[in-house]
Amino acid sequence: MRWGSTTSSSLGRANLAAYVGLVPVGATEQHGPHLPTDTDTRVATALCDAVSGTVENTIVLPPIAIGCSLGHGTTFPGTISLFPEELARLLVRYAEWSAHSGLTKLIFVNAHMGNVGALSTATDRLRFLRPDLQSGWVDWWHASAVVQQAVTADGEDIHANRAETSIMLYIAPESVDAEAMLGADDVDRTGGLTFRYTAEALSRNGVTGRPSEATAELGKTLFEAAVDVIAAKARAGLTEQPPLKPSQRSNDYGHCPHD
Ligand SMILES: [Zn+2]
Repeated sequence: MRWGSTTSSSLGRANLAAYVGLVPVGATEQHGPHLPTDTDTRVATALCDAVSGTVENTIVLPPIAIGCSLGHGTTFPGTISLFPEELARLLVRYAEWSAHSGLTKLIFVNAHMGNVGALSTATDRLRFLRPDLQSGWVDWWHASAVVQQAVTADGEDIHANRAETSIMLYIAPESVDAEAMLGADDVDRTGGLTFRYTAEALSRNGVTGRPSEATAELGKTLFEAAVDVIAAKARAGLTEQPPLKPSQRSNDYGHCPHD
């Protein structure tokens, strides 16, 4: 089920308290000469749709299409970014507002490395300020050890690389400029650096990695592996409770009740 294509009355009847929400968290940013600027949003949305197709009682919320892309700078055209604190606020608002319709469990499915700080901040705020809600996030490139190894095979600082291009060849082949892809390789220059820099100081064309080696077959393998991991989390999330029930928790914090 998709939130955005469902009527209000259908959402009301669905008993969203029994659902896990999947929020695609993407970006709009330069992705080298061969991939569209909405690559991360497409990847996150496709993952959520695929998970929702296999796990009952999951609903895909509207994708977050603008993420935190400050690392891409302004030299390469196409990037539109929030600042991390703005994205964190937006993520918290997603949780608060979906809860108004009864949905209290959210998994943010992230396809962009620059969003990690905001996702950590938002879910940290939520666990402290809104213990009545449950939220967590998954970065697709960390979905499993196998995925992570394949993703970083052509450099640690991944962007528009072999793995990401492969996933796009699998889910949206018409969006990949195949000719540009063959000449788009650039090396990871972040190894051993002490400080952080924006993309124009690190890459000649906005790419880090070897997209020329991308294949739809590799994309299918990585995509399906990520879907399996996210689906397992969603399935578990349907019934997950905090490990200690309120009645099992310590109420002796070592201070005198009369202080
Ligand atoms: Zn990307």
